[in-house]
Amino acid sequence: MAEPKENLQMEKIVSLCKRRGFVFQSSEIYGGLNGFWDYGPLGAELKRNVKELWWHAMTRQRDDVAGLEATIIMSPQIWKASGHVDTFSDPMCDCLLTKKRFRADQIEPQSGIVYHYPGARSSFTNELKQSLDNQLDAAVVFRIHDPKDREADRKAAEKSLSDLRKENDLSSWLKLQEAIVTLGSEYNVRELVETISNFCVKHGKSSNFSFAVLLAAGKPPESARKLAKEFYSQRGILEPELGEERIEKIGLDHPLATRFNPENGSLLSEPRPFNLMFKTYVGPVESEDGIAYLRPETAQAIFAQFKNVLETSRQKVPFGIAQVGKAFRNEVTPRNFTFRSREFEQMELEFFIKPDEVIEAIHGSVATLETPDPKPKTPEPQPNWGWQAWHQYWVEERVRFYEGLGLSRDTLGFHRQTPAELAHYARACTDILFKFPFSKKDEQGNVAGDELEGIAARSDFDLSQHQRFSGKPMGVFDEELRAAWAKLPKEKQDDLWKRYYDNRKNYLTKSAKPDETAEQISKQSTDDANGLARGQYIPHVIEPSAGVDRLILALIANAYSEVTETDDKGKSETRVTMKFHPRVAPFKAGIFPLLKNKPDLVAKAQAVRDLLRPWMNVFYDEGGSIGKRYARQDEAGTPFCVTIDFDTLGEKPELLDTVTIRHRDDGRQERLKISELLAFLLLKIR
Ligand code: ATP
Repeated sequence: MAEPKENLQMEKIVSLCKRRGFVFQSSEIYGGLNGFWDYGPLGAELKRNVKELWWHAMTRQRDDVAGLEATIIMSPQIWKASGHVDTFSDPMCDCLLTKKRFRADQIEPQSGIVYHYPGARSSFTNELKQSLDNQLDAAVVFRIHDPKDREADRKAAEKSLSDLRKENDLSSWLKLQEAIVTLGSEYNVRELVETISNFCVKHGKSSNFSFAVLLAAGKPPESARKLAKEFYSQRGILEPELGEERIEKIGLDHPLATRFNPENGSLLSEPRPFNLMFKTYVGPVESEDGIAYLRPETAQAIFAQFKNVLETSRQKVPFGIAQVGKAFRNEVTPRNFTFRSREFEQMELEFFIKPDEVIEAIHGSVATLETPDPKPKTPEPQPNWGWQAWHQYWVEERVRFYEGLGLSRDTLGFHRQTPAELAHYARACTDILFKFPFSKKDEQGNVAGDELEGIAARSDFDLSQHQRFSGKPMGVFDEELRAAWAKLPKEKQDDLWKRYYDNRKNYLTKSAKPDETAEQISKQSTDDANGLARGQYIPHVIEPSAGVDRLILALIANAYSEVTETDDKGKSETRVTMKFHPRVAPFKAGIFPLLKNKPDLVAKAQAVRDLLRPWMNVFYDEGGSIGKRYARQDEAGTPFCVTIDFDTLGEKPELLDTVTIRHRDDGRQERLKISELLAFLLLKIR
């Protein structure tokens, strides 16, 4: 239950990120803001490259995807329709002792001994007793000298005092206080009572709040008691005396197994839902009507603009809309560096496809995974693909994208969501994982990884929701379907009609608004299914949704490599090389004149820099030895260094206008003509 040791590899990565300017803590000079990160000079270049590569692969290199750049703040109705207002929440709980916040569903089950406490009260210490005695004496003396005092009351007061002294118990003190209040003399009684009552509140409290501590079996119970006393002290109970302790042994499957802080064993508060959307107000008045949200994903804008894009891009289903942009989630526990942030960027594609019933109507059958293409490795989209084949295709495409950035397949993992994990409208969801240094190991020591991207088959849920909430039709007209439907035998039409009807009814029932009746739902489902004959349907969607920041972190973790060398004097030095794929590397080449005090070398080196600059990001460096300059570029992840030396200037005539290219990963050097340099580098970085 001790605080887990920070992952050493992650510590090194975080420190390099700061030292070399990949990632800084946001607002660092003011102590930072949890869950927010800034990208420094190298990080900004890396991120830009990654987003460019995604955009290029997803839109410009394809005929069937169009781009979109929508606003961050949109109509709050969008988030009503998408379900985010009502259901986009994480279960949250707090440590009752340290107040540290946890996501309840991320707490690993723990076994051990639970020590339960029903409450506590202040123990009667000598110090407290002395203080009470003084107050009592004052009270009694005061009562005795009150001219309106009655003998019986005075006796009651004295009795309480003596009981108190005998029993060492607070209850007598409270009784005495009551007696004095009842007397109600004008002689400054109120002031005295107030003093006493403040004193009681401060010192005489008890708490019925139950608390518990989980200790690993074999640990001394004293540590549980210590935590419990701390808990009650925090609630104003001085020198707490714990109520009767109850002990319970629990296993990993016990309902309490996930209810304790893994770091200190303290009981956690009951989990409660916490909506992750950041709220703001549009306009000058902070009223309910002006509430808006910072988008928690980029996808919804794509659905909301579906019709506009369809009409202006001359696309036809199947086709996709891609968007890259900021998303905001008020995560309960931002963690693992940038992995779970509160402000991050997403790269999302919504790829709209025909429902399987439509494919079947047009093509007679649906190609699925059960009837795989003979070349499943490089599938070419086919007109008879249903959702399964498209889903599989996009998983493959996305994996290929990651490979192209230098993340080999063995650094990745997959998680196919189980039916229990899937949202009610989703047909499938495959997460592509990366094995981060903080990713957990299973019992066999295998690492599955953590999510980089989710590829979901979301049926027609999203467009249907926006159709229902906006009242604007989100369906498409397909002449091919209309023509094919008319030629289908009645039996086939009935079969497809029924399946489409059942799917619509299922969706409408599960997403019904409170005032919708079963009859209305049946009628709507019938109308929807009747649309098939007219060539109308609502497209389904496959959604590959990736996080830029998680990918950047994966690339950094994947690139990080260090070598420790010891010199003749036994002094060892660790050198870090960031082995980024040239495509993503912040700088593609370092350009060095051999010596900075030789104007001819400098001029030539600057000419080489200017030759390359329009095509790629290069770094010109003339400071320090060549070895130092190499080392600096190795840490920045620059794949090539180009040195301009005296041979470049023609000292050896046969080497005139040639440069030395040094390869980052193996230190190999080769001589190349300046005239061939651009083509050489472009080939490596494209
Ligand atoms: P998780 O289960 O890790 O919270 P998610 O399944 O909620 O992620 P999606 O809603 O599918 O995530 O978002 C798509 C992608 O956006 C994720 O795969 C991830 O790369 C990225 N992403 C989501 N939340 C965050 C976050 N808080 N910080 C950084 N990236 C995020």
